Amino acid sequence: MAKEEHNNAKHLPPPVDNSPWSAMKALVDGFATTLKHLARKPITEQYPEYKRKLPERSRARIVLTRDPDGGERCVACYLCSAACPVSCISMQSAEKEDGRRYARWFRINFGRCIYCGLCEEACPTSAIQLTPDFENIQRDILTMVFEKQDLLVDGCGKDPDYNFYQYAGVATGTGEKGTHAREDKPVNVKSNMP
Ligand code: SF4
Ligand code: SF4
Repeated sequence: MAKEEHNNAKHLPPPVDNSPWSAMKALVDGFATTLKHLARKPITEQYPEYKRKLPERSRARIVLTRDPDGGERCVACYLCSAACPVSCISMQSAEKEDGRRYARWFRINFGRCIYCGLCEEACPTSAIQLTPDFENIQRDILTMVFEKQDLLVDGCGKDPDYNFYQYAGVATGTGEKGTHAREDKPVNVKSNMP
């Protein structure tokens, strides 16, 4: 019983000191803290007059980049759309005369985007990239829906030398498709269409 009382006493807060000296000490401590901060350099940032430069890898406004030749990098593979946890990316794929795919339209609803960066991780062509531009806020949520012309930029972004078409689908000179060991013959996917 005595041991239990001892354990309970350990968890009790210390008794409150209501003496005038204690009140005076608290007052002096408070003023001392105020005086200490008066002499310090303020760290308040006056936004928007002063805009802090964020690190390059900060995740804010999303753009669609171009390859070094100026062509659109996006091949409308839908991987970013599939990876997006809030389903805010939508597009329509199309094919050029040379067989290359592109996005006929591409839309991101920034009103839903949580800037997680998963779309950028999923993109095989480095087309979709998040930038440090955090000033992408509007009062009217309907204006947060960005179309392809709002997203497409002129530059290459983080991968200035990367051109997807210089790596993907390029013949290696070691044999035709389907001729390597344990490699199946290519399938004409369009033959499966109804
Ligand atoms: S950053 Fe995340 S939430 Fe925003 S579009 Fe990309 S995957 Fe979707
Ligand atoms: S942005 Fe990238 S992941 Fe998204 S559809 Fe285009 S190529 Fe595919």
